Amino acid sequence: MTDLSLKKKKKIANESYTILKDIYGKQEMTLNFSNAWELLVGGILGAQTTDEQVNRVTAVLFEKYPNIEDIANLTLEEAIEEIKTIGLYRNKAKALIGSAKKILNEFDGKVPQDRDELMSLPGVGPKVANLVRGDFFKIPAIVVDTHCGRISRLLGLSKSENPTVIEKDLVEILPEETWIDWGHFLVLHGRNYCKARCRNCLACPLNKTCQYALSKEVQIKIEEAKYEQLENGCF
Ligand code: SF4
Repeated sequence: MTDLSLKKKKKIANESYTILKDIYGKQEMTLNFSNAWELLVGGILGAQTTDEQVNRVTAVLFEKYPNIEDIANLTLEEAIEEIKTIGLYRNKAKALIGSAKKILNEFDGKVPQDRDELMSLPGVGPKVANLVRGDFFKIPAIVVDTHCGRISRLLGLSKSENPTVIEKDLVEILPEETWIDWGHFLVLHGRNYCKARCRNCLACPLNKTCQYALSKEVQIKIEEAKYEQLENGCF
């Protein structure tokens, strides 16, 4: 894809956001939480796991261990027992206990709002830090997960594979008030239209703004699919 000017990227982002807001603007977040700690736990447990799986585990976990102290006092084996149905459970169990202890010892028992402080907690990278900042503290932040990264690239807003660089690119392009939504919308869009292995550009509502779909090669495929009266497909 050719290099686009910042002005052009802003136009693509703005048009795409308007379309996405129309489609997904009323949808609730899929991770269940009632405070910052619960969201942080959901974020830590969420790596390479679906939100449904995380919700199933946290429903039981928070019932048995409602406070940060309760998790800090678990042994590693006890924590593993509680979360063993999800992937990477050993590392995640360590991260939960480590984060709980650090929050109690260094942050007065309160989940910090500062990005660097959040990222100093075990198991917390930019994605989880931004999730907590945006969705709990309502501080503008973009969660760049695999869907957000992939679709932002396809739209023509970034060329990078590195989430930190993509976040930096998006921060420059998107208005601050859209940052929190952008991450959520692209997760939903990735599940609905733009899967990693099957981009349904024919039916995708972003196919008039997306630089991938507008490329000559894909346009030819879309026209062929229309001619064959296909309603879906992978492009
Ligand atoms: S037009 Fe195609 S590549 Fe672009 S966002 Fe939609 S499905 Fe993905």
